[in-house]
Order: sequence, then C-alpha cells, then structure tokens
Amino acid sequence: MQNKTVSEPGRFDTTVYTRELDAVLANGQEESCAALVDVSDEKNMVQRVQGTPPHAPLDAAQLGLLTRAVLMPDELSSVQRTELNVLISALGGLQAVVIPMSKEDIFALRLSGSNRVLILLIRHRDVTVIDAGTVARAQVVRSKVEQNKLELSPMEQSYSIWATLVNKLMELTRKAGMSLQLKGVLKDAIQGDEYVSAGILVDLAQRSVLDYYLIGAVDAAAVLKAVLPLFGGALDLYPLLAAMGYARHNSDNNSGNNSDNNIGKVQLQIGERDFYWLRVPYFPLLHLPFDPIAMLLLYKKPQGNPVLDWSVLDRAGLNLLRLRIGVLLEGGLQTMLEPFPRTHIEFQAILDELGRLDREDVISRLDIGGFAPRPVDIDGTIQRCQECIYYLPHRKWCDLPELPVPVEPDWWCRLWKV
Ligand code: SF4
Repeated sequence: MQNKTVSEPGRFDTTVYTRELDAVLANGQEESCAALVDVSDEKNMVQRVQGTPPHAPLDAAQLGLLTRAVLMPDELSSVQRTELNVLISALGGLQAVVIPMSKEDIFALRLSGSNRVLILLIRHRDVTVIDAGTVARAQVVRSKVEQNKLELSPMEQSYSIWATLVNKLMELTRKAGMSLQLKGVLKDAIQGDEYVSAGILVDLAQRSVLDYYLIGAVDAAAVLKAVLPLFGGALDLYPLLAAMGYARHNSDNNSGNNSDNNIGKVQLQIGERDFYWLRVPYFPLLHLPFDPIAMLLLYKKPQGNPVLDWSVLDRAGLNLLRLRIGVLLEGGLQTMLEPFPRTHIEFQAILDELGRLDREDVISRLDIGGFAPRPVDIDGTIQRCQECIYYLPHRKWCDLPELPVPVEPDWWCRLWKV
C-alpha cells in the first residue's frame, strides 16, 4: 500500500525522515498516520498516511498544538489553550493517558461510559520501557473496578461533605506516611498484585477521590487536582507526574537536558484515536532525550497491546538519533581519540569516567568515549564497531553499559575490544 504525505513541505520533508515514518507505518497497524513534528514550528512537519484511516488525518496546526501541549504545556498562550480544549472535545475527549517511565508506568484511564478515572502506578517486571505486563495489569484492574459498581450513598453524593472528609483523611494519612483504603474497591481489584504500587479512583463530576489503595509517595489529593484539568482538556501531564512522585526538573525548558522525570514518551487515547508521542531522538532503554524539538507521532485506531507500536517508534527514534550523532561527528565534533587504553586499568579508568557522567549527557559520552565516524588504524589493525564485541548488529547499537548509543558499523571509539 502506498503511503502519502499530507502535510505542507517543511524541513522534515526529506527522504531521510519520510523513510523512518514509512518504516513505522510498515511495521504497525494498518490505516495509521505517522508524523514528525517540530514543536516550535508546526510548519516544520511531515505527516505520512497509510491507506484510508477511519478518521481523517489531523492537519499540521492541530498536530502542532497537541504536541506542544504534551511537551511544553507552560508555553501555550491562553488562545491556544482554548483552541486545545475545543480540539480535544471535537476529537471525542480524553479517554486514557499512559506515561511510560524507566521503572514503572503511569496510567489514567477513564472508566467506560462514566466520569470516573482510574489512576495506577505499575512497576515493570524488567527493564523494558513499556512493559506488556503493566498494560495487561492496568486492563485487569480497570475491568475489575468496572465490574464493581461503586455506588455512592446519599451522603457521599454530597460533594462538600464527601470531599472534606476525604481530604482530611488523605492529609492525616499522608502526614503519618500511612496507606488507607476508603471503600475497598481498589483493594479488591489490586490486592495480590505486587507490581501495582498505587491506585486512585476519582470522580470528575463529583470532583472527589472515591477510593485509593497502596499510597506510597503518591499524593492522592494532588492526583485529583491534576486529573481534573487534564481530563477537562488542558492536556498538561506534568501535575500528574508530580503527584505520582516525579518532580519536574527545571532543566526541561528547551535546554535539551531532560530527565527521567520529564516527558519523553506519552500515549493518549483521545476519542477513537490512540496517539503515541516519542521525543526524538530518544534512548529507549535509558530515557535519554537528545533533541528536545522534534516529536515522532503515531496515531491510529486503539488496539489492546501498545508494545508493537512503541517498538517501531523506538526503532525509528534510534535511527534518527544515530543520524544526529553522525552529523555531529562528521561536522567536526572533537572527541578524545587518545590515549587509546592499553591496559585493563586504563580501560577501566575510561569506563569509570563515563559512569560518572550525567546519564543524559550524550555529548560528553561521545567525547570521553573518543568517537570517530570512521574506522581507525591502531598498531596496524583497522578497528571499527562492526568487529567490536560490544556491537549489536541488528540494532546497530553499542552494548557497552557505560556507552549506550546507536552506532554505525564503520564508526569507532577508543573502547573498541575483540
Ligand atoms: S565500544 Fe566503541 S567500538 Fe565498540 S561498539 Fe561501542 S562504540 Fe563501537
């Protein structure tokens, strides 16, 4: 099936970028749309569409607005906030939020046909970025809660009485560092699953917390405060992150130095479309963003398991990161090609230096690693990544734990080893 570009030509409208978008579409669900969006200027966008999606593709202004709201909500003007609200409502309203983090995933899921939202924090079983297990767990908890009709008593239906009581209880338990189950619905749904570390059930119409279970660092009152505007169309995810124990780092704003606590990946269901955003380029395993400007976006009909979608986006993100590093190296980025380590102690000293780096500091990693965008002759032996023991050919990836970067087979660094 032929993919077509449906956006105005921008700086991303080149073979390099459309090829990556087409790869995402080729490996994903049929009738999907993939785009690369410059959050600072939606004119710099390319969108590729596969087949005839059930809903018309969004235009550049709409995708730009949604993407800016996800990545840098503080920078939206009041006019843009209003436009965003109208757009989300026209698309069918926010139904679900998934924020994959390095060790756990945050879910905020609207229960079907209701004003209730279930918020869950689910730990990964292993180091995979979006763990199929967390998605399955969230679905199980949601369906158990949906089966259990949480009927409110007349007293509880009085917002003011209920909200006051809940807030007092939450404040007391938070101060005491305790957990508390209010009604037991979540306890029934979560109990026995050691990977679900927090569950909160809120009612958007009542503006209240209905139930919560296993609260650790999670502040249920703050979760409620975050979820109300989020599901009201503001699309600001950072208050929810903060309420779930992830304080935002100040360095996020346009510096390019983002942390695990800042958004690199987001999945939203708005109306009848699933949207997947990946900050590009992005380190899938270590959550190391590199260029804060571009977001890779896939949107399509919802499907049960997002792991395949994330994996094709990750691959495209890695390819784009590799391209970016290649441009830097070929553009003359100076790195420490010498001294080449001749002993185990010298080798280990470089590893130690790499290990002390901020894990988001890609440039210093290239510098200390001594990267070159070409093979290098050491003592008459031509060395390159392709023959190095750390090179993973299928991913074109350096598997040295201190140097996790996508590489080309013809590159080299001074930690080369056979
Ligand atoms: S250690 Fe260096 S030479 Fe070996 S694969 Fe990694 S980057 Fe390439």
